[in-house]
Amino acid sequence: MNEAVYLVKIGELMLKSGNLKDFEQRLVQNARLLIEGTGSRVSLRAGRMYVEGPEQAAASIEFMLNHLVGITGWARATVVSKDIDSIKEAVLAEALKAKEAGYKTFKIEARRSDKSFALNSYEIARLAGEAVYDRGIMAVDVHHPEIEIAVEVRERCFVYGNEHKGHRGLPPGTGGKALLLLSGGIDSPVAGYRMIRRGMKIDCLYFHSHPYTSPEAQQKVEDLAQNLALYGLGTHLNIVPFTAVQQRIRDSAPPDHATVLLRICMMKVANMLCPVVSAKAIITGESLGQVASQTIENLTVTNSSAAYPVLRPLIGLDKEEIIATAKQIGTYDISILPYEDCCVLFSPKHPILRADPAVCMEIYNKMEIDEMLLEAFNNREHKRFGFRNRL
Ligand code: ATP
Ligand code: MG
Repeated sequence: MNEAVYLVKIGELMLKSGNLKDFEQRLVQNARLLIEGTGSRVSLRAGRMYVEGPEQAAASIEFMLNHLVGITGWARATVVSKDIDSIKEAVLAEALKAKEAGYKTFKIEARRSDKSFALNSYEIARLAGEAVYDRGIMAVDVHHPEIEIAVEVRERCFVYGNEHKGHRGLPPGTGGKALLLLSGGIDSPVAGYRMIRRGMKIDCLYFHSHPYTSPEAQQKVEDLAQNLALYGLGTHLNIVPFTAVQQRIRDSAPPDHATVLLRICMMKVANMLCPVVSAKAIITGESLGQVASQTIENLTVTNSSAAYPVLRPLIGLDKEEIIATAKQIGTYDISILPYEDCCVLFSPKHPILRADPAVCMEIYNKMEIDEMLLEAFNNREHKRFGFRNRL
């Protein structure tokens, strides 16, 4: 029976010699979890990961590889017997496929880690390359080929064309857990993805203001959580009702301080939730200077109310860069749907740009809002999002 075989490249893991074993094991474990039930196998050998399964599992395997964090690239490979004629034949097949797809120039990239194979990598590349251009399929371009066809002679012999890029980073589960403040905007899902790529697992926290915010606004957040779950091996979304809190801020605080106070309140609730979900840090989608509430002074005020480190992976990125990532991971189209999240509705026209921590705390204390925050926390809802592909 014909099996689908995938060769997977592991990048950054190679650098972490100290805990390489843990990272590798976690990566394999994550890959196995993602394709459980498809009859596929995952194995690791000499710095390469292999995924093999029945042909009907191919789509699931590719979906998995497109979401697996911790790999630099992957390709579907043909396994051939270790002789140059079989290699040539497989290379020719790849070249014909490439030509059909419109490629005009190629290069053979040969590797031989099995030194018992009679030809060295240079000879393999030359002979396989000749087979392609002698038939006039494509022209050779060793410097800027449109496609590389790879031959790897290892314990088995692999031939593959089209290599796909991986998400790089470290396997989620190796870097502890954090709580992501997830809104329906463009930034916070990207912030979550960035930290997943540093090996973190994430749980999410969303504040809604029904009836000021619509069910559609919450649905957006749920869809975003579902998207992140695919990269981060599942997530839990905690939904906290914040209407009363927003109203209290509106009624008892100077309007220009409303946004900063709302951030403080969000942090206080995040502080309550972190120990419950075993999170060691809080993630937000803030980026320095992007909006009035995101000046260094205002971020400092928010920080002073957080009992955990606040991670802001987007802090030094501009909107274009954030959007590029959002498009790449599939959250952009969800985020740009028009339904507004709670902050927009209660935002002051002229928010304070450089809030003073002491003044903010004074206003905060006067609001007597702690009990209300505890009540909001206790009234939270909870939804779980799985990571299995939904093909
Ligand atoms: P985003 O695109 O993530 O909504 P933003 O540029 O709109 O960010 P703000 O509205 O100032 O910025 O929010 C800053 C951060 O605060 C968000 O990135 C998110 O982490 C958090 N946040 C804002 N609103 C909410 C909410 N309703 N629920 C949970 N977190 C929120
Ligand atoms: Mg927002």
